[in-house]
Amino acid sequence: MSAGSSHNCANGWSGLSTRPRPSGFTLAEERALIGSARAEWAQALRLGEQLLRLPNPVGNAAAARDMERFDAHIDRAVSALDMTHDYFHQVIDRNRAQARAARTRVLWVTFAAFVAAVAASLFAGVVLARSVTDPVDTLRQGAARLAEGKLSHRMDIHRHDELGELAAAFNAMAGQLEADQAALEAFATHDGLTGFYNHRTFYVLLGDELARAQRFQRPLSLLLLDIDHFKRVNDTHGHLAGDAVLRGLGELLGREARAVDRVCRYGGEEITVILPESDFEAAVRFAERLRAAVEAQPFDANSEPIRMTVSIGVATWPVHAASAEALAAAADAAMYAAKRGGRNRVVRYELAFAQPASPG
Ligand code: GH3
Ligand code: MG
Ligand code: MG
Repeated sequence: MSAGSSHNCANGWSGLSTRPRPSGFTLAEERALIGSARAEWAQALRLGEQLLRLPNPVGNAAAARDMERFDAHIDRAVSALDMTHDYFHQVIDRNRAQARAARTRVLWVTFAAFVAAVAASLFAGVVLARSVTDPVDTLRQGAARLAEGKLSHRMDIHRHDELGELAAAFNAMAGQLEADQAALEAFATHDGLTGFYNHRTFYVLLGDELARAQRFQRPLSLLLLDIDHFKRVNDTHGHLAGDAVLRGLGELLGREARAVDRVCRYGGEEITVILPESDFEAAVRFAERLRAAVEAQPFDANSEPIRMTVSIGVATWPVHAASAEALAAAADAAMYAAKRGGRNRVVRYELAFAQPASPG
């Protein structure tokens, strides 16, 4: 009994015993391979059943040939299944490798996303913290500056929240305190009627200017001006008219003096003018100009023009005095000499003014 055509593989997968390594199949090839294994197996099965039905196969040459063909079919079937098995193993390995790579990628992406999220939340936390701590720090520093007396300090916070409102309130308060302090300072250092520096500030300024003059070895002159017969103005026109004359004299001095000159109300109707960088001759010229201007200008009081004159004493550091007090005393002595000399005049300080008058 011979299987005949069963030697040939119907779908081209003959010679599989050499088992080339499968590198990849199409679906049709896979099916053909499995079909080939099934066909070989079917042939082998049929031959095997024939052989089993033989009553005495030993010594039967035909049975021996069928046995060989049976073995060949089994070999090819096994070979086809091995190939399929190898191929599927390769596919499985490849899929596993891809799955491992995909898993590693997913892990890296997850890790990167985690790191990015942590960094972003840290950054957001720092930004949020700084948006609160920075203005609070500015407020704290501003309050400390204010406590030190630096009233010109302002907080540079421009926000539309409670911190912004606090800073705006602080700035308004500092501005008010600064204005109040400036008003108090002006009140403490200036004369209310004439707007000149007051008596106390005169000595402060004279000390400062003298220190500067000594340091740079520059001359410093002082005028002491007294209104002549001022009592008569009060007595004749009333004290308000006298006040108006004093204010008018203040305006005149304000016009005539240089920006660096310091005009002060020394006493009732006595005015001092500190002249930095002015030597004796320049100071005398300035005093004469003042005297002439006062004499020429009628002062308006109660719409009644009042004519005035002044007596002025002039002294200069370092030629007439070594200290601020001595310079003021020298100018005062010269002014009194002007009074004695008949008023409405400028008198230059002379050493003789300091000598006690000789008897007789
Ligand atoms: P002399 O030429 O000798 O300086 O005469 P005098 O009248 O100017 O001097 P006296 O010292 O006798 O009088 C000064 C007057 O100045 C007395 C005072 O009433 C007046 N006086 C002082 N301060 C003011 C002031 O602020 N307003 C007014 N209206 N008068 C003042
Ligand atoms: Mg006077
Ligand atoms: Mg006087």
